[in-house]
Amino acid sequence: MLDPGQVGVCKVRRGSAGGGLETATFASSVTHIDAMERKPFFHYRPGTPTITLAAPGCSFRCDYCVNFRISQYGRDDESVWNVHPVEADEIVARAAAMGGAVALSYTEPSLAPELTLELARHGRDVGVEVVWKSNGFLTLEAIALCAPAVAAVNIDVKGVDEESHRRLTGASSRPVIEAIRAFREHGTWVEVSTPLIPGVTDPERIAAVLAGISRDIPWHLVRFTPAYRMRDQDPTTPQALAKAADAGRAAGLRYVYVERALGAAGRTTWCPSCQASVLRRGVWSLAENRLEAGHCPDCGTFLEGRW
Ligand code: SF4
Repeated sequence: MLDPGQVGVCKVRRGSAGGGLETATFASSVTHIDAMERKPFFHYRPGTPTITLAAPGCSFRCDYCVNFRISQYGRDDESVWNVHPVEADEIVARAAAMGGAVALSYTEPSLAPELTLELARHGRDVGVEVVWKSNGFLTLEAIALCAPAVAAVNIDVKGVDEESHRRLTGASSRPVIEAIRAFREHGTWVEVSTPLIPGVTDPERIAAVLAGISRDIPWHLVRFTPAYRMRDQDPTTPQALAKAADAGRAAGLRYVYVERALGAAGRTTWCPSCQASVLRRGVWSLAENRLEAGHCPDCGTFLEGRW
């Protein structure tokens, strides 16, 4: 609980005189449209057009953050409160008109749960769902509040080693892993992304933890590019991404993806039973969907997802 006027570690929420929290939650720095694959979600409503919003602020302070100009509000002078107001009903109406969804991404959506709840409330009657890209650093109470409003979440797992995770992000990794379990228990579709930072990320350990939760969690391996406080570090090589993808499969994960560096094969969904190609993608777009109500058209196996 914050005292009146006290600002939280997120830097965007403040205690109010009445005992609650105040902040500009109905605000966004961006409003743009792209495909669900761009979030990235590969097993949730492929090809769905998505309006993406992002309000400033994050509970982490990752050294490599490519979005630091909006995520590090209150911590970094280069991050400024540059937003426009968001009317949830208007955003939902725009998404409904194109048969789409609404995503909260680039910064941490759990800092403004009011916006998610309001978007979901308006979206319920018109078939517009809300999805998150999140760092997963939420309490179980916050997940219980938000999960009924979040159809799918892509959680960043940056590491499972406490010490290196704290060094990289400023926070513990344990709640992130717990969030994967909790969102799944609430019925939210969960995918995971991992930025593969040379010399920092341990993909074998992360893959083992994810496979221990479910082998059906899609795992997106993301190439690290030098940014923010890690501008002097080398980018991830395609060889390292291929090795990490192999480690994911060796750990038992059925769906391991690399969006760009390994070409089209890296972003294809293969049937885990007969190995047929069932979903092909361009770079962050859908190219072909052969699934029949989520089943492989060749052998009938159901692939986990929200199709
Ligand atoms: S969790 Fe994401 S948005 Fe937040 S600081 Fe880390 S990389 Fe940036």
